[in-house]
Amino acid sequence: ETKPSILSVNNIEVVYDEVILVLRGVSLEVPEGEIVTLLGPNGAGKSTTLKAISGLLKTERGEVTRGSVNFMGEEISNRDPEAIVRRGIFQVMEGRRIIGDMTVIENLRLGAFTRRDGQVRDDIERVFSYFPRLKERTGLAGYLSGGEQQMLAIGRAVMARPKMILLDEPSMGLSPLLVKEVFNIIHKINREQGITMLIVEQNANMALHHAGYGYIMESGKIVLDGTQTELLNNQDVKDFYLGHG
Ligand code: ATP
Repeated sequence: ETKPSILSVNNIEVVYDEVILVLRGVSLEVPEGEIVTLLGPNGAGKSTTLKAISGLLKTERGEVTRGSVNFMGEEISNRDPEAIVRRGIFQVMEGRRIIGDMTVIENLRLGAFTRRDGQVRDDIERVFSYFPRLKERTGLAGYLSGGEQQMLAIGRAVMARPKMILLDEPSMGLSPLLVKEVFNIIHKINREQGITMLIVEQNANMALHHAGYGYIMESGKIVLDGTQTELLNNQDVKDFYLGHG
């Protein structure tokens, strides 16, 4: 059974500052409702791929110079980030980017900025049901631990009621125990809210434990892709990405 893609990235090239070629023809498909992971070493172009989808590339003098990004049947490459958020794609940036001098609830309300319905309060409670420890934190978000800030950043994305969330290294800076907890919650949100997830990770073990399909990127190109089982059993993936013991 092949589910229809909600997102198709077709052979994109990305250039920064008009000259620095970073993506050299990247294609990937994300089926609706699934979790897909994008793996690869530092500097491979994973974050750039996410930014090409969310439009945040524009804020860093980057541009999609070839190929297309199709979301729900619509071409979105090089559109404004805000227009893309309104179409239903929300990116959780690497390093979390929560607003430190605002409270948890104020940060969560920010996530709902595109919405006009009156259910923001209910959604805040729903986010607290996923991340109970956030509810206990009534001070400024800047005083949260790294793990709590990551949870808040994911909670803020959920507040937007997006169709798809792009996660840039949710495991970064977290203890192994917290990484496990955060991934379990991501998976729960995917199941319960039906939100499609594209997750960039260095932690291939954890990402492949949760994603049904994965892509591996090196030097601006996809070098391998496959189902969870195919990648977990692939000798190169075992040697270079999964480590031993
Ligand atoms: P990491 O895990 O380190 O973030 P990555 O796979 O996400 O790695 P990118 O951050 O997409 O990789 O970077 C890919 C390449 O693009 C790197 O060589 C990087 O130096 C370059 N790059 C990233 N952002 C910019 C920018 N704003 N201007 C110029 N070059 C950039």
